Amino acid sequence: MSLQIHPIKAFTDNYIWMLINQSNHQAIVIDPGQAAPVIEYLNANGLELTAIWITHHHHDHTGGVAELQEHFPMTHIVAHNDHGVAQDQAVKEGSTVNAWCHAAQVWEVAGHTANHLAYVLDIDGKKHIFCGDTLFSGGCGRVFTGTIEQLFTSISRLASVSEDSLFYPAHEYTQSNLRFGLSIEPDNIAIQDALNDATAKAAQGIPTLPVSGLHEHAVNVFLRTTEPSVIAGVSAKIPLPDDKPLTVFAALRELKNNF
Ligand SMILES: [Zn+2]
Repeated sequence: MSLQIHPIKAFTDNYIWMLINQSNHQAIVIDPGQAAPVIEYLNANGLELTAIWITHHHHDHTGGVAELQEHFPMTHIVAHNDHGVAQDQAVKEGSTVNAWCHAAQVWEVAGHTANHLAYVLDIDGKKHIFCGDTLFSGGCGRVFTGTIEQLFTSISRLASVSEDSLFYPAHEYTQSNLRFGLSIEPDNIAIQDALNDATAKAAQGIPTLPVSGLHEHAVNVFLRTTEPSVIAGVSAKIPLPDDKPLTVFAALRELKNNF
């Protein structure tokens, strides 16, 4: 079977990622904050929705679930107990979710929220990671109901995957994140190039996502907390008691909150 991964735009900057099985015309969506754009795409392409996967409870990720289930009553809802939706399959760290003949491992990547999950889908040995609001291209999520320590652990775990892995974050925050990155590392050519590329894509309405692990290691300052240029950039703006990765990471998150 051939599986396609397609972004559906929602609200102003959300992406609802859709897995499409071209062999049987079935589809899975991840974090449908809105139902209408999903239904429109399914109808336009002759697809049937069979499952919904949720990463965390925020309304812009779950708001379309009930309406989608009304339209497609057989839809199988996969979520954590804490996600505030009527799930058919409760999942947590270590669970496995099926996408036809492919399997996705469920990782707990708390920090943005306490029970945030990522779905790590393996296709022919390559990881496709649906990471919600944990990792963005060039940045990471804010801390709401989790802790900065949890977020650091989660981002470190996501950063540990092989470089050809692909990340599918739920928001198009790339330009803003890269501008922040340049405020920390003004001489980082990879960030400069990525910002130029993201600006050109935005002008054409093309998503900057997904992104590879290799790319993120070059452009995402939250993955670069041991780089002398990042430590220097942060300490020029905020006094650091030490240069441990968690200290630098927390200072970066603080600076980005006010950027
Ligand atoms: Zn969120």
